[in-house]
Amino acid sequence: MESEAPIHVLMVSYPGQGHVNPLLRLAKCLAAKGLFVTFTTTELAGEHMRTANNITHKSVTPVGDGFLKFDFFEDGGMVDGDGDGSKKKTLSDFNAQVEVFGKQYVSQVIKEHAEANQPISCIINNPFVPWVCDVAAEHGIPSAMLWVQSTAVFTAYYSYFHKLVTFPSHDDPYLDLQLLSVVLKYNEVPDFLHPFSPYPFLGTLILEQFKNLSKPFCVLVDSFEELEADYINYLSKFVHIRPVGPLFKTPIATGTSDIRGDFMRSDDCIEWLNSREPASVVYISFGSIVHLPQEQVTEIAYGLLDSNVSFLWVLKPPHKLGPPPHVLPDGFFEGTRDKGKVVQWSPQEEVLAHPSVACFVTHCGWNSSMEALTLGVPMLTFPAWGDQVTNAKFLTDVYGVGIKLGYGQAEKKVVNRDEVKKCLLEATIGPKAEELKQNALRWKTAAEAAVAANGSSAWNIDAFVKDIKKLGAVRVNHI
Ligand code: UDP
Repeated sequence: MESEAPIHVLMVSYPGQGHVNPLLRLAKCLAAKGLFVTFTTTELAGEHMRTANNITHKSVTPVGDGFLKFDFFEDGGMVDGDGDGSKKKTLSDFNAQVEVFGKQYVSQVIKEHAEANQPISCIINNPFVPWVCDVAAEHGIPSAMLWVQSTAVFTAYYSYFHKLVTFPSHDDPYLDLQLLSVVLKYNEVPDFLHPFSPYPFLGTLILEQFKNLSKPFCVLVDSFEELEADYINYLSKFVHIRPVGPLFKTPIATGTSDIRGDFMRSDDCIEWLNSREPASVVYISFGSIVHLPQEQVTEIAYGLLDSNVSFLWVLKPPHKLGPPPHVLPDGFFEGTRDKGKVVQWSPQEEVLAHPSVACFVTHCGWNSSMEALTLGVPMLTFPAWGDQVTNAKFLTDVYGVGIKLGYGQAEKKVVNRDEVKKCLLEATIGPKAEELKQNALRWKTAAEAAVAANGSSAWNIDAFVKDIKKLGAVRVNHI
């Protein structure tokens, strides 16, 4: 018999800012289309999200034609700087703990809803929690995965896992990697897969998702067809892949822009930006995790002073158990009082969309890259690790919207103040700045078309919702 119960989707996120943001954007989008969405991650992340935003544990919010609920799971009391140094966990320990507690939670939620005759129809995860697909499969529930990096990087992991191309190795670390038509130098290969990576266990964790890639019925990517057609077409031969991005641009029900998952409260930057000249401000941010060496921060500070550009600089405080906070050179604030502003966290989408912003010095996380590219903002690339080094290559040499500034941290190179000054000026004034801006504006237009009604990403989201509804109806009928 047909059931009237709303289709219920459970979305499980790794507790990182760059993971929560795209999955939450997708959650709002699916809810707006009439689904009941429960969004979950660890309680530790939940605590930060509740403190910084207008969200509440277990409350249900109407979004468009559907509903969104946050439900944070107990995580065994992860240390977040409240203990002494001896209690500090490695990232590997942390990930193992997320898995133990997350698996228990997901199984329990599935059972509770089945018993209440309101079964969960689909479970969606992002790639650092690949075990979610296993739990879903154990319970016979369809799952999908939102890949939160580029399709090109997905292709690299897929090719590595299936040994489709030769990667640099311990024996031959300087080998170039041919990724379809793009040649990646050894230091542009997603660095968790490179023998020089200081974080090889993150490569191993991501590859777990490729081991069980037969479990999700669909892989969604926060990208769009017009941007990555080659990689999407290539992967479509092996994987049911749906580009649905840029998710932050997707039109969703009005009144949901304040449902956000920031881990820190944003400082007010918009009023200050309003006071600046159009296209005059350099925005600088290295995302939520990267912590630059102090020496590098000092060189950037002098580069800003010497170039005399206006700037908005996000200097995030380090983790409580991490390195000491950065120190800016003596006289920096006095020297830049009329020109610059330093904050701890910004409302980045609003900042990048602001007409006063000229360019973005970025660590090239995929979210930041997509946000800037599709808001028409040229970039100075300053990657640290992982997919960032690959994104930097694409932004500069393939999409034509960036100038190379920094190197991956594995290179252990410091970019000096003269180089910083030269690149800041090149990206803000003159013919190169104009060329980058024009290219970025073309991507902005293409992205707007992709998410507009009948656009490629909008179409994919609708098709995905239809799939879920079909699968959900089948499950309810069989219960
Ligand atoms: N972000 C923000 N304010 C900041 C810095 C970053 O809102 O001051 C957001 C940014 O818009 C993006 C996310 O945090 O959505 C960072 O994700 P990304 O993939 O760029 O980098 P990660 O933090 O994962 O390294």
